[in-house]
Amino acid sequence: MDKSTVERLIKAAAGARENAYAPYSGYRVGAAVLADGEIYTGCNVESASYPCGICAERAAAAKAVGEGRRGIGAVAVIGSSGEVCTPCGMCRQFLYEFGEDMTVICCDRDGGYETHTMKELLPFGFGSSSMK
Ligand code: ZN
Repeated sequence: MDKSTVERLIKAAAGARENAYAPYSGYRVGAAVLADGEIYTGCNVESASYPCGICAERAAAAKAVGEGRRGIGAVAVIGSSGEVCTPCGMCRQFLYEFGEDMTVICCDRDGGYETHTMKELLPFGFGSSSMK
């Protein structure tokens, strides 16, 4: 993945983070997925009923899928701490559905980031081929 695309995704994720609804944890997260060449964003949305909340990565991917996209090739996720933000276990499984070779760009609030593939983050993941 070229550097300018990575930078576009990080910028979009950081923009989405501004809309995070995180009154309980205070941990604001933004995400941006590249799906069929278009960027879709999402933020974490918490709930007073904690398990009902949704992470930024799943919100962004659901937005893309809702617009008819299926080819999610990359996702950038940015948190609000000095540590790089990696997708939680549920998000890893959710995103794995769209490809184990997906590029995952994990960012910290200060401009640092690292990239992985989904396969690296979720080895031996459960996918559609697991049910054959
Ligand atoms: Zn998550």
